[in-house]
Amino acid sequence: MKKNLHFIFGDQLSHKLLNLIHFDWQNDVVLMCEVKEEASYVRHHPKKIAFIFSAMRHFAEELRKKGAKVEYVKFDDENNLGSFDAELEKAIKKHNPQKVLLTEPSEYRVWQKVINWQKTIEIPFEIFPDERFLCSKIDFRNWAKGKKQLRLEFFYREMRKKYKILLDKKMGPAGGKWNYDEQNRKSPENNIKSPKRISHKKDEITKEVLVLVEKHFKKNFGDLLPFHFAVNNSQAMLEAQHFIDELLPNFGDYQDAMFAGEAYLYHSLLSSYINVGLIDPLELCQMAEKSYLSGKAPLNSVEGFIRQILGWREYVRGIYWLYSPQYFESNFFNAKNNLPEFYWGKKTKMFCIEEVVKQTKENSYSHHIQRLMITGNFALLSEIDPKKVHEWYLAVYADAFEWVEMPNTIGMALHADGGIMASKPYAASGKYISRMSNFCDKCSFDPEISVGSKACPFNSLYWNFISKNEDKLKKNQRMQFVYPTWYKMSEEKRNQILNQAKFYSEQIYNNEL
Ligand SMILES: Cc1cc2nc3c(=O)[nH]c(=O)nc-3n(C[C@H](O)[C@H](O)[C@H](O)COP(=O)(O)OP(=O)(O)OC[C@H]3O[C@@H](n4cnc5c(N)ncnc54)[C@H](O)[C@@H]3O)c2cc1C
Ligand code: SF4
Repeated sequence: MKKNLHFIFGDQLSHKLLNLIHFDWQNDVVLMCEVKEEASYVRHHPKKIAFIFSAMRHFAEELRKKGAKVEYVKFDDENNLGSFDAELEKAIKKHNPQKVLLTEPSEYRVWQKVINWQKTIEIPFEIFPDERFLCSKIDFRNWAKGKKQLRLEFFYREMRKKYKILLDKKMGPAGGKWNYDEQNRKSPENNIKSPKRISHKKDEITKEVLVLVEKHFKKNFGDLLPFHFAVNNSQAMLEAQHFIDELLPNFGDYQDAMFAGEAYLYHSLLSSYINVGLIDPLELCQMAEKSYLSGKAPLNSVEGFIRQILGWREYVRGIYWLYSPQYFESNFFNAKNNLPEFYWGKKTKMFCIEEVVKQTKENSYSHHIQRLMITGNFALLSEIDPKKVHEWYLAVYADAFEWVEMPNTIGMALHADGGIMASKPYAASGKYISRMSNFCDKCSFDPEISVGSKACPFNSLYWNFISKNEDKLKKNQRMQFVYPTWYKMSEEKRNQILNQAKFYSEQIYNNEL
């Protein structure tokens, strides 16, 4: 009996993969590999590498326990050839399979490899859609067809209807509204303290991986220890249940809040697990819905959480595949600056940036509003080259895979796609940061001041951005109050602000800010 070879990538750690449903347990072989090419195409955070390698090894063990033959290539195996291409060729030579079966890769870069294999390798490939995503590429394309604007809100409503999530008896939205976002913008309270998170005991597999990562990746930005990640489905589901029971009730209220020393607040920390396949996104949405139906969590929290997964997560994946590969080249504002060194941990006087970068270094995590309104906003205002910003986000976060990171960075944070994803740039001055966080209380700058030695850099950089991009933004309906405010200032004041922005722009690259 001839066997098939099943190639499973590191972010496909789910027993529900369609190719595994076609697995012949008597004959077929699974190929999984930790290759240098993947581990180093950007300088990933050590925690991210350790998480993925450990989760892969645990998944391989689960398959073996179920009776599968698994060809697993470890990063430090002597005969590791360093690339998917070479490892696949080697496995084909060794096992002489009838066919190679795989589930479509999540990233365009790897998809190009698969296309190339189909052309150059003589045995047939069978490629299955990735049904862990709740909107297929084709369905998204059909939804987008003929639309002038691809707004999340409308996509999200379709998804709610499709999966019958949070609907009332008449198939309308639970509670009468599709979206409760306006209730989800509470500023942090001074004594805010979120519940402690679950930490998992490290087994031999994880310990071995930590030694490996320490040896090979210690120069990468980020702390390997303490290592707190779940590395298999049962651990990840423990975290999911803990989130639903203990944190979801407050998720909505504090979704946009930022607080020094509270890296996680009420966020779920589940993105890494969902992205590599340890948690099924639909199951998670259903768990959240159940919590609302049983009266344990309020609608604003549950709707907000479900919108992130059923809405945003699927939407960004749709955008990524609709516009790749050209999306990567987007640069609407023609931004060309380098990434300042303080993104890699060099000292800065701006408390907000220092705090978010510190959390990122320690945890390989930062919650959404910090990614968007602190590091993303600063990169937008200070005109950093989108490709450089994209590489940073892809490297530093444990949940970062290109399909989800790139649209969030290039589209949402930098508006470099010219408005495909967001109807206006998420540009904000220090006043927004001051309202939504306690960062400014700890900073030597003052968010109320735009000019002078105490002036918050976000303020002058914000107005500089607005002034410089007037031709691109003035006609935008959603910017209609911004330009009158700018021109209401005296010419002298405007010049002072622009000079202050120039001064700070120079300071950034002299490591003086
Ligand atoms: C510049 C930038 C870069 C980002 N890069 C990534 C990335 O590489 N990988 C990634 O998974 N998310 C990314 N996001 C989206 C979001 O910030 C993270 O999904 C979220 O912070 C993960 O933390 P959490 O699990 O605690 O999320 P929660 O706040 O608890 O949200 C619940 C879930 O919703 C999903 N979700 C929420 N927002 C988004 C979004 N905008 N896009 C897609 N899914 C979303 C995630 O699966 C998340 O686990 C990025 C956002 C920005 C602004
Ligand atoms: S004052 Fe400005 S630089 Fe300082 S924390 Fe607030 S927003 Fe950031």
